[in-house]
Amino acid sequence: EDDSLSYLEKLKVLGHGNGGTVYQVRHKRTSAIYALKVVNGNCDTTVRRQIFCEMEILRRTDSPFIIKCHGIFEKPSGDISFLMEYMDAGSLDTLLKSHGTLSELSISTIAHQVLDGLNYLHSQKIVHRDIKPANLLANQNMEVKIADFGVSKIMSHSLEHCHSYVGTCAYMSPERFNPDTYGSNYDGYAADIWSFGLTIMELYVGHFPLLCPGQKPDWATLLCAICLEEPPSLPESASEEFQSFISCCLQKDSSKRWTASQLLSHPFIAKNHVSEN
Ligand code: ADP
Repeated sequence: EDDSLSYLEKLKVLGHGNGGTVYQVRHKRTSAIYALKVVNGNCDTTVRRQIFCEMEILRRTDSPFIIKCHGIFEKPSGDISFLMEYMDAGSLDTLLKSHGTLSELSISTIAHQVLDGLNYLHSQKIVHRDIKPANLLANQNMEVKIADFGVSKIMSHSLEHCHSYVGTCAYMSPERFNPDTYGSNYDGYAADIWSFGLTIMELYVGHFPLLCPGQKPDWATLLCAICLEEPPSLPESASEEFQSFISCCLQKDSSKRWTASQLLSHPFIAKNHVSEN
């Protein structure tokens, strides 16, 4: 396996992540372009645990809506490299910064693909736990895929494993801050839907929906916005279907929140995709 790494030529750095660097690489013989995430072998144990979790999930998943991993290489030094499909339009947060907000039609197409991805993950008993614009990657064909499984969880027999504090707190659902629900009936799948709802809303309004544009995120403001205030809603300019879709995702009571499979049949998604299915 180590041998195949020598076939790869690094072209440039695409970004820095948790404990590692992502490069654009070219296969010397086939000229195919890939993304290579290299994680330093001597990173701390928490990061290492996340890497192994990410490895396990990438090995298990096979969906057009999830970033494909073509190989995982472990060097004697402990460095771990993931060879992934290259997404040439980058993440949705950079796209948002460069192109500004998106139209409802584009958002519906994106939401459809992310929901297909979430529906697939949840059916495989995988909770992503860090859905946000930075973790959704796009290419020029308007394909959008879920990436970055560093803090995801495979739900085994109980929900016990998903209680550790992980993820970007801004996109975390209200029940994750509530000790009454967090321990007992905390539903990791529904928490993904909350983060998804905020993410989709951000594509329309152009800023993180729980804060005013340009507002500095501090813990107290965020916690108050997530747990005490009414969930955010779309401006009047959005269609009724879109507003309804967002409110199905952003129910504070996680048991009232729609599942990925239910959301796939919501008119906001279904009306634009009548030819499929
Ligand atoms: P994080 O910063 O959330 O830990 P990663 O380490 O996975 O994320 O990636 C860091 C950055 O590298 C991303 O924000 C993205 O811009 C870029 N990147 C990651 N994977 C790919 C890919 N498959 N194709 C193109 N760009 C990628």
